[in-house]
Amino acid sequence: MGSGTLVVLGSGTSNGVPTPGKEYPEEYLAEPKNHRTRSSVCLLGPTGNVLVDCAPEMRIQLVRERIYDIDSVLITHTHADHVMGMDDLRAFCLKYQREMPIYTAPRYQEDIRRIFPYAFADFPPGIWVPRFEFREVPDVLEVGGMSLRLFWVEHGKVPCLALRVNNVAYITDVSSISDENVALLQGLDTLILDAVRYAPHPNHFHYERALEVAAEIGAKQTFFTHLSDDYDHFRTDSELPSGINLAYDGLRVPF
Ligand SMILES: [Zn+2]
Repeated sequence: MGSGTLVVLGSGTSNGVPTPGKEYPEEYLAEPKNHRTRSSVCLLGPTGNVLVDCAPEMRIQLVRERIYDIDSVLITHTHADHVMGMDDLRAFCLKYQREMPIYTAPRYQEDIRRIFPYAFADFPPGIWVPRFEFREVPDVLEVGGMSLRLFWVEHGKVPCLALRVNNVAYITDVSSISDENVALLQGLDTLILDAVRYAPHPNHFHYERALEVAAEIGAKQTFFTHLSDDYDHFRTDSELPSGINLAYDGLRVPF
């Protein structure tokens, strides 16, 4: 199985951190790791890169991380923070002169057609629009020289796509994981897991719940993601049990 690197493009909750319209102490703002773009990761594989979600800051995230190629895209679900960067995929459609393969559930394909109808309309050549080609989500996706084990978790009332690649797993936006999928997550070196905020949340693991689930799964290292401004990076990090840390934008995890 090919090895590679998972790059945390964004580690922030849906409104981003810092959140516009809200004042923060200067010390909070001075810490770069308290600046969280919306949640997304990129898998850099031996022969290709897979983008997982298209946050509103996708363009900025890829430029920041010096990632110049995206071969396929996985969309975990269609809440705005996970799809609103999809228009910027047109840069890659132009670069390669082809459609971008988009792996997601049929229900989410419908949403994407509704949000970006122009990505499916006929345009004369030379018009710069994104082009999406939907693909079914298999249990195992062979892409970029990687073998991705894909599975669905509950995110409130909707499903959210999660993945394992070698000994690393990424689970954003989750309120419940089935026992069957917990079993899939044994023997991990690194787990990246939703821990949206301190207070309980109907659609997400909150801090205490994420700690419980992280202990249950037992990865050697867990990083919490999809983080709100409840978390002051170094203060929270110093309070977490050993082997559990906050993710941050730009974190790189080998797999
Ligand atoms: Zn989200």
